[in-house]
Amino acid sequence: MAVAKVSLLDALHEHFGFDSFKGNQEKIIKSILSGKDTFVIMPTGGGKSLCYQLPALMSPGVALIVSPLIALMKNQVDLIRSYSSKDNVAHFLNSTLTKAQIKKVRTDLQSGKTKMLYVAPETLTKQENIDFFRELEISFIAVDEAHCISEWGHDFRPEYRRLKEMIDLVGSNLPIIALTATATPKVQSDIVKNLELRTPEVFISSFNRPNLYYEIRPKRKKDQTIKEIVKFIHLHKGKSGIIYTLNRKTTEELADMLVANGIKAVAYHAGLDSGTRAQRQDMFLLEEVEVIVATIAFGMGIDKPDVRFVIHYNIPKSLENYYQETGRGGRDGLEGLCLCFYSYKDVQKLEHLMRDKPLSEREMGAQLINETVAYAESAVCRRKVILHYFGEKYETENCGKCDNCRNPKEKIEVKNRVVIALKA
Ligand code: ADP
Ligand code: MG
Ligand code: ZN
Repeated sequence: MAVAKVSLLDALHEHFGFDSFKGNQEKIIKSILSGKDTFVIMPTGGGKSLCYQLPALMSPGVALIVSPLIALMKNQVDLIRSYSSKDNVAHFLNSTLTKAQIKKVRTDLQSGKTKMLYVAPETLTKQENIDFFRELEISFIAVDEAHCISEWGHDFRPEYRRLKEMIDLVGSNLPIIALTATATPKVQSDIVKNLELRTPEVFISSFNRPNLYYEIRPKRKKDQTIKEIVKFIHLHKGKSGIIYTLNRKTTEELADMLVANGIKAVAYHAGLDSGTRAQRQDMFLLEEVEVIVATIAFGMGIDKPDVRFVIHYNIPKSLENYYQETGRGGRDGLEGLCLCFYSYKDVQKLEHLMRDKPLSEREMGAQLINETVAYAESAVCRRKVILHYFGEKYETENCGKCDNCRNPKEKIEVKNRVVIALKA
């Protein structure tokens, strides 16, 4: 045992230059190296990648890593290459590669030099790829962002549903490692079921973000709310912040209002062309603007460590979204203020957005909205409610970092709320 420990640390140091493991990393890596199915639930920034990268480097054969976003795939591979002296230790295979590039990847895989291959789910649907993978020695399959399997998650991708079927075509009894930052019990059981994990070892890290301050404010008239936001930003002059809104038009309007009030702000949403989006994202990262006013299109894969506040101009559609979006604040462990404006009108707007969806989706959506409303209206510690939502007990009496703990108050009442019927 002691020997194994020393060699794992040595391997960590040799391959990544780190001196110690973070959180559950070491236990997770041991589970993977023993060939067991492993399920890793760890908040964003916790260090999930290393959990499969190190075992991949230490095992014979190549690990296949399923990842949903082509852009993130390239980032990851570039990052691994920056740690390693050998460029062919990691590759990715997706629709962006040319024929010549694909040939190079295949040659490296056949030579056994490549230890990690990032693939999109689509890559696994192609018969020629399956046939090729069958001839390789595969160490294990890692499914990153595994919540994409579940409709209860915040980023459902139908292609993820067919992964197990395709993994079985690649090889029999391959160990599967599923990783996600989504901790709701419903999503977890969907992942275990869909990937048919065989009595997996499950590692759940705490989701508490002790440096984030949570506050809900009743939303008043538009002008007043904007005034409140302007005042808040002026109090935090020069700091970086994100404001999330429900729709594209509001991002533009709000950004204009902020600019009119002397705040450097830009809007960001999926209706902008990709060049403009990339440019505005860079302006935010390089601090040419202080505030980005965005729809939920902004965030995935963005890693700005010193975002000091996250404001929700509209209540988000689920507590899971709220956690992920506020989670982009204070990534460096320093202050992160999370302010959410709540009104009944915005709840109606959310329900209205679902009007054309099939009944089952509306039911699911309504349930998620109801949970968010319960959170907003609760007089209980915000941290406690969020962590409870993720199946985690938070025992501290007063967290000291939420509105309800700082100023105990009466329940916020919203009158005449019509809830979409949960049973047809
Ligand atoms: P996640 O996928 O869980 O969001 P990442 O895998 O992207 O997190 O890791 C987040 C950061 O933590 C990265 O910058 C990574 O280099 C760093 N990191 C991971 N493991 C360690 C470690 N053992 N020691 C120091 N830094 C680490
Ligand atoms: Mg990750
Ligand atoms: Zn609290």
